[in-house]
Amino acid sequence: MNDTTKYLLPEDRIPKVWYNIAADLPQPLEPVLHPGTGQPIGPDDLAPLFPMALIGQEVSVEREIEIPDPVRDVYKLWRPSPMIRARRLEEALDTPAKIYYKYEGVSPAGSHKPNTAVAQAFYNKEEGTKRLSTETGAGQWGSSLAFAGNLFGLPVDVFMVKVSFHQKPYRRAIMETYGARCVASPSEETEAGKAILAEHPDSTGSLGIAISEAVEVAAKNDDTKYSLGSVLNHVLLHQTVIGLEAIEQMDLAGDYPDIVIGCAGGGSNFAGLAFPFLGEKFRGGKAVRAIAVEPAACPTLSRGKFAYDFGDTAHLTPLVKMHTLGSTFVPPGFHAGGLRYHGMSPLVSHLKELGEIEALALNQIECFEAGVAFARCEGIVPAPESTHAVRAAIIEAEKCKEEGTGRTILFNLSGHGHFDMQAYTDFFAGKLTDIEYDEDLLTEALAGLPEVAAE
Ligand SMILES: *Cc1c(COP(=O)(O)O)cnc(C)c1O
Repeated sequence: MNDTTKYLLPEDRIPKVWYNIAADLPQPLEPVLHPGTGQPIGPDDLAPLFPMALIGQEVSVEREIEIPDPVRDVYKLWRPSPMIRARRLEEALDTPAKIYYKYEGVSPAGSHKPNTAVAQAFYNKEEGTKRLSTETGAGQWGSSLAFAGNLFGLPVDVFMVKVSFHQKPYRRAIMETYGARCVASPSEETEAGKAILAEHPDSTGSLGIAISEAVEVAAKNDDTKYSLGSVLNHVLLHQTVIGLEAIEQMDLAGDYPDIVIGCAGGGSNFAGLAFPFLGEKFRGGKAVRAIAVEPAACPTLSRGKFAYDFGDTAHLTPLVKMHTLGSTFVPPGFHAGGLRYHGMSPLVSHLKELGEIEALALNQIECFEAGVAFARCEGIVPAPESTHAVRAAIIEAEKCKEEGTGRTILFNLSGHGHFDMQAYTDFFAGKLTDIEYDEDLLTEALAGLPEVAAE
């Protein structure tokens, strides 16, 4: 019997290329539109915000895009990440299913986010960018870009959602340790921030507002570019190192997943794991179910509209076709901070519309219960975001038990929860509730979606 627990690849098996699912899509993506003209945007429209290499990746339909050696060299600090068979969890669930997880918490920032942060910092440095601006919610992305910017000698300004800035001082300390400057958003440093503060002096901020501030800084300063941690095509592309490694590790295990699962905020860790498997399917390989798991309090894929919308609150970004709850929708304050975005990656949204992936919305209490069960079996305390993937894997394993069929389940453990232990403390104290989003607020936000001539 094969009783291996941990599937490890040597350093030289870090993928040499990223996988671009645009090459294999059953139908092409819809274009990104200019908010003023309603016409498809060109590279020049994006040039103030992003380096040309990333703009090229955003619209590329090449299947394989080379990973530059300096990026692979940084990846070597933690990649290839382990794939682990959750044997004790399987035993505890008494399920005939096999459960594997790909563990991205081994990165310096503790999540999958450095996979793209390093690539973005590299391309910016190469093209002469002098400074990066970005936003962060709970601080995961800010600390990842701070880490990457430092390695390539780029100062990073992070607009951190004000409520998190005050509630998560340790996240801020990590960013500052890597040398980044952290600003509470909304701030007085931008027109977008000042406008919000003039109207709502007590605003605790939101991801949409912080994005507006970071984009404004990049648009106004020639030497500064903007960096986004999820949603965009090039971000999802960089995350495919996860799934490409997992395909090799599944091979080592002599197995292949029937189901792949990832939690979904903007969609990048889910896509990073699932897209390489979906690509194999599109090219005639084995069928695989891909499940994106989101919080019931911010159900972008399950309840959002598939429509053109802005990525930010001040409407500075181009219009992208995606599942959206409306750019003015502010989700209630639940604990998985990384899953609180109003939109979803256009690629993930498109695949959902085509019926190629499934969406599942879960309440936070059952997710924390799953996170605790996982920690007690497997030792790793999952990030609150990742507990959504854990819970979905357990649901599928329980179905296998009921049906008496053994399936192979692979989920992405996108990060550890060591910086989010307040959430666990609140859970143990019985302070967490299953928060409902405000139905009226959603209706209002959806009614405010921009009108687009092309639709
Ligand atoms: C940011 C984050 C997420 C959500 O972002 P995606 O782009 O949907 O992957 C999930 N898990 C962790 C640990 C995160 O830090």
